Amino acid sequence: MTKKIVVTGGAGYIGSHVCVELINAGCEILIIDDFSNTHPEAVNRIREIAPGNISLLQCDLANAAQAEEIIEGVKAFGADGAIHLAGLKAVGESVAEPARYYTVSAMLTLVRALEAANARTLVFSSSATVYGELNDNPVKEDGKTGPENPYGRTKLFIEEILKDLSRGNENWRIVNLRYFNPVGAHPSGRIGEDPNGVPNNLFPFIAQVAVGRRDKLMVFGDDYTTRDGTGVRDYIHVSDLARGHVAALDYLSAQKTGGATDINLGTGTGYSVLEAISAFKRASNRDIPYEIAPRRDGDVAEIYANAELAKTLLGWRAEKTIEDMCADHWRWQSDNPDGYES
Ligand code: UDP
Repeated sequence: MTKKIVVTGGAGYIGSHVCVELINAGCEILIIDDFSNTHPEAVNRIREIAPGNISLLQCDLANAAQAEEIIEGVKAFGADGAIHLAGLKAVGESVAEPARYYTVSAMLTLVRALEAANARTLVFSSSATVYGELNDNPVKEDGKTGPENPYGRTKLFIEEILKDLSRGNENWRIVNLRYFNPVGAHPSGRIGEDPNGVPNNLFPFIAQVAVGRRDKLMVFGDDYTTRDGTGVRDYIHVSDLARGHVAALDYLSAQKTGGATDINLGTGTGYSVLEAISAFKRASNRDIPYEIAPRRDGDVAEIYANAELAKTLLGWRAEKTIEDMCADHWRWQSDNPDGYES
């Protein structure tokens, strides 16, 4: 097992859960986070859940003036590899402000830092949004790509940059993890998703309605050709997803040759918006008022993963059910109604 791991975006929703799983697996970690969309309290909570060797570098990977500090920090840490999660993630914002999303330089600073540390092992947080609309479900890794917005395109571009990198130098070992829809929270209720402003995603929105922060949920479209007319997605518990990163690092450290591999992280099962609402209602025992609204631009009717490659290569599979996802998401939301500011 690779031991000293840099986690960019380690204070974020997925990052904080990845840090906990890495510490549980015996790793030492260096979190690089600028706290622009995250909260320093998340780092305290990670330390509380998983006491271990956790260092922190408060830097912005996209800021050229901080590149040398980052490179020196990664070298001094003695990194064996990195998990790159830092980045903006709001699809709508990426359409409105694409220049903030095309920050390939952030990735390249991390690449320079790993080269300086002679640690060419990297797990990249990609997304199922790299797939186009033209694929049959369940979607396999060799499905057609064709992201519909700048957010998805930045994920695809970076995947391709990383493939070029591995072609150029056979010492690079890379996995691009294509996440489906991460939801839920650590079962302790101490870390979870803490969106700024109005949540874009379904689960944080449902959770804020359940806790009384918002009046009702808008269901974006009930006229899709799905079993109940609402959109179907492959929701995956964030702790399962986080374990997938540890499995990816294990896989890379066992590889004799380099390369870059795309791997889906999903459960292989889709749930509709109405099914997700019902499950959350049962878990929280709260009413979740909703209203049917027009479809949201850019949404596909249905997408869920073929999760076989992760089983074959990583020996990983999602274990938690939609009930676990809702129960854990609700525990986080009800214990921390205003997120880390609670
Ligand atoms: N959705 C919804 N209301 C919301 C947010 C999302 O009906 O307030 C629907 C959305 O249309 C999609 C599903 O919930 O069918 C998941 O959306 P989310 O934004 O969480 O993830 P996406 O799959 O779009 O990345």
